[in-house]
Amino acid sequence: MSWEREVALNTDKQLVTDAFKALRKQGYTARQNFSCCGGCAMSELATEVEQGKNHDKFVTYNRQNGEAFNEFGQLMRSLMITWDGSSAEIVKAFESVGLLVAEHTGGKELCVEVYPFRAADWRTARRLFNRLHGRHFTKEVYENPNQAINDIAAAMRASGIVSS
Ligand SMILES: [Zn+2]
Repeated sequence: MSWEREVALNTDKQLVTDAFKALRKQGYTARQNFSCCGGCAMSELATEVEQGKNHDKFVTYNRQNGEAFNEFGQLMRSLMITWDGSSAEIVKAFESVGLLVAEHTGGKELCVEVYPFRAADWRTARRLFNRLHGRHFTKEVYENPNQAINDIAAAMRASGIVSS
């Protein structure tokens, strides 16, 4: 495998694509960068349902949400997934490829939120946080990853691990 190919395969975007493929196999309509915004995406799906298509189970993110990926295919902020079906199935699909997903209550009005880092990164960050602070993440910190990242960066600066 070429170096370029290997780099391309190791992006958040590829992992998200893998999760979408897995969900498609489970009967989901799965569309990435689908339509310009949430409103248009929903009305496009509704039109297709009127034409006889089955979209009882679907996962999508629109082009606005797709801007969460940078030019290298890495997530720079959370990717918000609009869905119908089973949020447990959807969360599992994203977790299975190694992405970190916000806890989901199952409420259909709530997007599934894919965090902008991977489960493995998160475990590393937690270990680092524990070592630097001598304490564990609180539930509040765990549920607010951006705050946690800031805390970790501040702790690393304070301890001289990073300079700026
Ligand atoms: Zn629109």
